[in-house]
Amino acid sequence: MSNAPLLLTPGPLTTSARTRQAMMVDWGSWDRDFNQLTASLCERLLTIVNGTDSHHCVPLQGSGTFAVEAAIGTLVPRDGKVLVLINGAYGQRLAKICKVLGRACSIFETAEDQPTTAADVDRLLAADSSITHVALIHCETSTGILNPLAQIAQVIARHGKRLIIDAMSSFGALPIDARHVPFDALIAASGKCLEGVPGMGFVFANKQSLAAAEGNSPSLAMDLQDQHAYMAKTGQWRFTPPTHVVAALHEALLQYTEEGGLPARHQRYASNCKTLLDGMAAIGLRSFLPAEIQAPIIVTFHAPQDPRYQFKDFYERVKAKGFILYPGKLTQVETFRVGCIGCVGPEGMQAAVNAIAHVLQEMEVLDI
Ligand SMILES: *Cc1c(COP(=O)(O)O)cnc(C)c1O
Repeated sequence: MSNAPLLLTPGPLTTSARTRQAMMVDWGSWDRDFNQLTASLCERLLTIVNGTDSHHCVPLQGSGTFAVEAAIGTLVPRDGKVLVLINGAYGQRLAKICKVLGRACSIFETAEDQPTTAADVDRLLAADSSITHVALIHCETSTGILNPLAQIAQVIARHGKRLIIDAMSSFGALPIDARHVPFDALIAASGKCLEGVPGMGFVFANKQSLAAAEGNSPSLAMDLQDQHAYMAKTGQWRFTPPTHVVAALHEALLQYTEEGGLPARHQRYASNCKTLLDGMAAIGLRSFLPAEIQAPIIVTFHAPQDPRYQFKDFYERVKAKGFILYPGKLTQVETFRVGCIGCVGPEGMQAAVNAIAHVLQEMEVLDI
């Protein structure tokens, strides 16, 4: 496995050999040992947000979007109205989910390099009393921008409204404390900052809100209230669980704790991000976001201006040197992205920067 490329992407990402090794066992879904593994997983996940008293952890099969869709469908009543805060593609996806599910929604969109502010949300909630829920992306992975979650959450609570947080790419690395940040749902997944493999999402759902959500969901398979009720009664997942994904995530969480939990994970990603930003600046590549609003998760870089630069060619050449990059997701400017998350440290990031520098030389890209 040593010559497998390093994934500098926002998931799937590079996992440790130990995490991959945990998938070498076949588990029975009805088996007591497997059910204990699920219970232990949910307990550990709740601890990371200090949510044990206030929230249930409801796991769900599928990619992260499945869990987002399930959270909105389950927790927003059929006559609810969602204010969706958008500054990138994942925010757009939240609004699309509301539309597909038939939940009324209004959107507030800022530029891709503009965080939503608490003052914006205060004004929007004051202007429309029919809003029941606010949905927000914590770290908008399409650029790497960080939205000020804690301040926004306070404003929402003051207005007596409910908050749904897509913390997919920040959970586990950036601190979120359920005792101080009131939310109805916080959504994340196995294959991001916890460094598990992709295949399941999970939702921290406020206990009262979840209990009151019976019958809301327009879907059977994505009904989190039913998923939770069944699991609470039987210890089992409704429908076939992603057993290997659960085992890998459990093992990844043991390593998370051994590493030093959230502060250590945050520190490593922040070092990765700094190494990346400094190294790229030294070869003349500019990042899209100013440092104050850049989360240490994924960085968007302006593509070189030189016509000899083509992303596909660049990507293939960097891959041949052992690093998988990620295309840009902006409509207005040509960019590419480099992830700072996964089982990688600053040395790995520096090696990636060196590979990028070599490739640009090989391609004779001069106008950076
Ligand atoms: C990764 C991610 C998702 C989920 O994407 P999937 O492809 O469904 O796993 C949702 N929101 C954000 C902010 C993400 O980074």
